[in-house]
Amino acid sequence: LPAVILVGRPNVGKSALFNRLIRRREALVYNTPDDHVTRDIREGIAKLGDLRFKVLDSAGLETEATSGSILQRTATMTANVLARTQFAVFLIDARAGLHPLDLEVGKWLRKNAPEIKPVVVLNKAELLFDGTESFSEAADEARILGFGDPIAISAETGFGMTALHEALRPSIEDYVLQVLNSKQCGESSLEEVDDSKLPLQLAIVGRPNVGKSTLLNALLQEERVLVGPEAGLTRDSVRAQFEFQGRTIYLVDTAGWLHRTKDEKRPSSLSIMQSKKNLMRAHVIALVLDAEQIVQAGRSMTHAEVVIARRAVEEGRGLVVVVNKMDLLKGKRAGSLYEKVMESVPMEIQTVIPQVTGIPVIFTSAIEGKGRIPVMRQVIETYEKWCSRLSTARLNRWLRKVMSRHSWRGEGSQPKIKYVTQVKARPPTFVAFTSGKKHQLSEAEIRFLTRSLKEDFGLDGIPIRIMERCVP
Ligand code: GDP
Repeated sequence: LPAVILVGRPNVGKSALFNRLIRRREALVYNTPDDHVTRDIREGIAKLGDLRFKVLDSAGLETEATSGSILQRTATMTANVLARTQFAVFLIDARAGLHPLDLEVGKWLRKNAPEIKPVVVLNKAELLFDGTESFSEAADEARILGFGDPIAISAETGFGMTALHEALRPSIEDYVLQVLNSKQCGESSLEEVDDSKLPLQLAIVGRPNVGKSTLLNALLQEERVLVGPEAGLTRDSVRAQFEFQGRTIYLVDTAGWLHRTKDEKRPSSLSIMQSKKNLMRAHVIALVLDAEQIVQAGRSMTHAEVVIARRAVEEGRGLVVVVNKMDLLKGKRAGSLYEKVMESVPMEIQTVIPQVTGIPVIFTSAIEGKGRIPVMRQVIETYEKWCSRLSTARLNRWLRKVMSRHSWRGEGSQPKIKYVTQVKARPPTFVAFTSGKKHQLSEAEIRFLTRSLKEDFGLDGIPIRIMERCVP
């Protein structure tokens, strides 16, 4: 992921913006020793419209604003933090106007990261438009920094987030493309290791008593169990490793997640947070449901189960739904229940998660030892789709066909998509290049493209993403 650092003198609202960008996602806080003082840098995954990036809050670097200059105090930090950052958002206080410390921050950034051209934002701008103060005055001052036109935002109210998105988008998308190109040229990028033969990280989740442990034990008894986590994964996040049909599988530990029943002790919020984090580290999430409970409740998923499933696809994970305990429905009322469940569950899942068509559903009985192979086969199929890469040539042959097959907005007014390219896998992510200054693809058109891509390349059942990029 591209990384964006938030810089600015103290109290301009870096943390407020950080919090807004990461929303409820967890932030990772780590310490950086800096001249005998430990300072915190917060890091999180930001979502801004369709952009996802790593965001770093440098607020912790300035805890001693009264002594020494920012330049001095942050100097030692540069190697660590700036080396991992490609972009910056430079905050200034819209109401206070340009402050001498702002100039210092600008100098610092120029000196230590000359390749970064920050997006300057006037924060706390919600008050600029009430007639008492003028935006153009504040903007003129901000231009003195030499980083171009500022945009007005309010981290507190969310005002200006679309403008921030527009300001960051072109360079972030370019960066993603660059990473892809360098990879195609054989340069490796640590974060973008792409090989469907790499260990598959699997999470098996579900409410208590749905049969997760039974399924898991079957896997661990039947398959070759490997010992010790490999580099890059900590012991506490991987519960077990085994080999299935020549492939290494890491079982991601998600204990604590969805385990909040009345009779069970409520796990600490910390362990829930940790298991949520682990969950989203999984490549494929197998959500286990209980067939008998489905019949009793008259619906496929409880609220908590829907939340997990949605979150999994929103985070771009592969999702496999496992309906367990099917043996309990056999023979009941002339077998009609069995069939009913098999029919209704996929339909209901489609209704509650319309973003992804054809989420695979496996019906099984873990206790009869039947679950292991079909579940693992589906997990692997989903994983392979999730890792797929389509060449630009193939995509563009496809694009021409799709464009001629349908007229989207009536004759002659089709959006001009110049070409489509896949910028990353895991999950497959595409960029559609259109000509013009403004985005032309409506949400419906993006959905149509997504649907066609999935149908024509067999990518159903996994989340895929399409972004539009305008080329003037
Ligand atoms: P977990 O809490 O999700 O790990 O659930 P367990 O694997 O501990 O299973 C809960 C109970 O359901 C146990 O008594 C299992 O024997 C039983 N169970 C698990 N899978 C099945 C199944 O496919 N059919 C039936 N009838 N019972 C099952």
